Amino acid sequence: MSDPVLATHNLQKRFGALTATDDVSIDLRPQEIHAVIGPNGAGKSTLIAQICGGLQPDAGTVHFLGQDVTRQSTAIRARAGLARTFQISALAMEDTVLENVLLGSLGASGRPWRFWQPALSDNTLRAKSEAALERVGLGDVRHVRCANLSHGQRRQLEVAVALTLSPRAFVMDEPMAGLGSEGSKQLTGFLDTLRDEAPILLVEHDMDAVFALADRVTVLVYGRVIATGSVDEIRANHEVRQAYLGDDA
Ligand code: ADP
Ligand code: MG
Repeated sequence: MSDPVLATHNLQKRFGALTATDDVSIDLRPQEIHAVIGPNGAGKSTLIAQICGGLQPDAGTVHFLGQDVTRQSTAIRARAGLARTFQISALAMEDTVLENVLLGSLGASGRPWRFWQPALSDNTLRAKSEAALERVGLGDVRHVRCANLSHGQRRQLEVAVALTLSPRAFVMDEPMAGLGSEGSKQLTGFLDTLRDEAPILLVEHDMDAVFALADRVTVLVYGRVIATGSVDEIRANHEVRQAYLGDDA
């Protein structure tokens, strides 16, 4: 089996008396969508924060592309190709779709802010940004203000920003949140094509999306992994049904 792109080893995080991440080892392999599910408060977002660098674990490690990145900043991990998409307020609503991609790619490239203005007319960057917009299906609306996009289109725009950074892995925390059933269906179809760019670690509540997309599913309960397996294995797992899916799943 090929080496994982991303992996945690025995990750541990406590908040006072609460163990939010309890000995979690999980990995993401090339080309897969690995879903992480579990009830509210199970520790999914805490896990994602440690993987991306927003939170330091008390014990354990995070490896990305074979490197131990546990002590690296969020920015360094992002520059190495760890793409955290769908964070709140990542977009500038008054700017156009294309400007958002240009600015987003610059921000994450670490260029000092005072140099962004000339960069907007940088042809290489512009071509890269336009290609990313075509890739996510927003080429036709590149001059539309971000405020006029639907929620689903905004998520596609965030992916376009991520694509300009040549991502090696995507990490997403509940991308379907706030979308109606039509929007969720569309985003599900989109994520299914995105796996060709880079594998996706997907925290998601929407079970239709999880069961449609995931190659593997990991179930977290009270900070612990209670099962990892294929969709069929997870659906049939007695402990998972009791703890999370309910017996009618
Ligand atoms: P999930 O994303 O699965 O809903 P979280 O990772 O957000 O779960 O939270 C896991 C547990 O850790 C919850 O009990 C939550 O209240 C607690 N928690 C999360 N962040 C903090 C924090 N910064 N300080 C204290 N407790 C926290
Ligand atoms: Mg959460």
